[in-house]
Amino acid sequence: MTSGAAAPDLAPDGPEIVTCLMDMDGVLVREEEMIPGADRFLASLDRRGCRYRVLTNNSIYTARDLSARLAATGLQVPPTAIWTSALATAQFVSQQRPGGSAFAIGEAGLTSALHDVGYTLTERQPDYVVLGETRTYSFEQITRGIRLVEAGARFLATNPDPVGPSPHGPIPATGAVAALITHATGVAPYFIGKPNPLMMRSALRSLEAHSETSIMIGDRMDTDIVAGLEAGLRTVLVLTGVTQASMVSRFPYVPTRIVHSVADLADDLDLAIGTTVGL
Ligand SMILES: [Mg+2]
Repeated sequence: MTSGAAAPDLAPDGPEIVTCLMDMDGVLVREEEMIPGADRFLASLDRRGCRYRVLTNNSIYTARDLSARLAATGLQVPPTAIWTSALATAQFVSQQRPGGSAFAIGEAGLTSALHDVGYTLTERQPDYVVLGETRTYSFEQITRGIRLVEAGARFLATNPDPVGPSPHGPIPATGAVAALITHATGVAPYFIGKPNPLMMRSALRSLEAHSETSIMIGDRMDTDIVAGLEAGLRTVLVLTGVTQASMVSRFPYVPTRIVHSVADLADDLDLAIGTTVGL
C-alpha cells in the first residue's frame, strides 16, 4: 500500500488546521487503557490552541461519565469536549421538534441528553421512539417500542453499530436491536451516529468551526473516515484500532493521511496534512 497516494482531493498544504474531531475508542483509548502518546497529543492540541471534540457512537454514558472514564486512563478531557451519539440525537430532535416527547430505550447517556433539551420521556403517544445502547435490553421495553412505532411514533436510533465489545466477547448493540424492531414493524430507524455526517456537522457547529479548517481522526474506514469525508473534512486514519494498513485499499475512498497513532501527531499536527509517516 502506498499511503503517499492517499491525498487525491485535498491539498496537503490546505488551510491550517484549527479544529480537530477525533473518535475515542481505538484512537485515544483501547480496552480502558490509554493509547501511548494520546496524552501528549491532547497536550499538543492545547498548546497549539487547536480546539477539539472527542466523538463516540456510544450512547450509554453521559459526557461527564466518559470524562471520568478517560481520566482513569490518564487523559484529561473536559465533559464539554465530548460529543456522543446521544447528545447528537437530542440536538437533532430538539431542532426538528422542539419541546417534543420520546420513548427512550437506553441508559442515562440518552435519557439525560433528551431531558436536557427539554424533551419529555413518555410511553404515551411519543413523537419518537429513540433506541440507544444498553447492556440490559429489556424485552418488555422493546415490545413497547415496537407497539409505539406501529402506532405511528417516528423511529430513531443513536447509532447503527451491530455489536459492541465486552471483556467476554461481542455483545449485541443498538444496530442489532434496531434490526429486530425493524423486522417486527417494517419501519427502519433514522440513525444519528457515525457514519451519518450529521454527527460531525453537529460537533463542528458546537465549536463554531468550519470543515475546511478541521480534521477527523479515526480508526474505522466505514464510520470515522467516510463520515469525515462526507462532512467535508480532511481525514486521518490511525492504525491503533480496528483497521490495518492492508485493509485500506478495499474501500472505495481513502483517508487524507494514515499515521500509526495519534502519538505521531503530537509533535507536529501538520503531519496530518503533510507527509505520511512511517508506512
Ligand atoms: Mg473507534
